[in-house]
Amino acid sequence: MKHLAQMQGVLCAGMCLEWSEVMAVFTCFYPDIYLDSVYEIDFEELYRKGFRGVIFDIDNTLVPHGAPADGRSIALFKELQKIGFESVLLSNNKEPRVKSFNDKVHSRYLYKAGKPAKKGYLAAMELMGTRTDTTLFVGDQLFTDVWGAKRAGILTYLVKPIHPKEEIQIVLKRRLERIILFFYKRSLSRQGGKDGDRR
Ligand SMILES: [Mg+2]
Repeated sequence: MKHLAQMQGVLCAGMCLEWSEVMAVFTCFYPDIYLDSVYEIDFEELYRKGFRGVIFDIDNTLVPHGAPADGRSIALFKELQKIGFESVLLSNNKEPRVKSFNDKVHSRYLYKAGKPAKKGYLAAMELMGTRTDTTLFVGDQLFTDVWGAKRAGILTYLVKPIHPKEEIQIVLKRRLERIILFFYKRSLSRQGGKDGDRR
């Protein structure tokens, strides 16, 4: 509790805000659902609920950062196509990385997407012919993936990064993410829920 009080003091002082205002800012980054892996999502169930399009981040969501498509990611996209889902890979990375991944999974892709800007998510829905209420997003970072998807108004899954080895700028963001995830998990436990059933 002492650490929590210290953390609250530092955050409030650092941002010149009341604690309630800090918490309101944090909720912008809260995912709807938080899971260990994209590979545990029940896409058949989501299709039955009316979802028709899935937007994916690639690096550390589907495969480790910079890795090629592997057997389970290829199988996932085959399963999605069999179910009837449209999909788009939405990445802030450059085209060669995104295209080479897509060549193996046969989805669609948008590169240099500018996440967390909304425009990439809206362009992805345009490509799939889906709406905000029939689309979901899966990604591993709060400040790009989750924030952008929430701004676009679509169901947002956060998954744990596949591999801990990341570029230095991402390592720094992960430290801030840990603080927000602490309060996210606390809000879930206060609601009597657990990871994975915010919505
Ligand atoms: Mg990622």
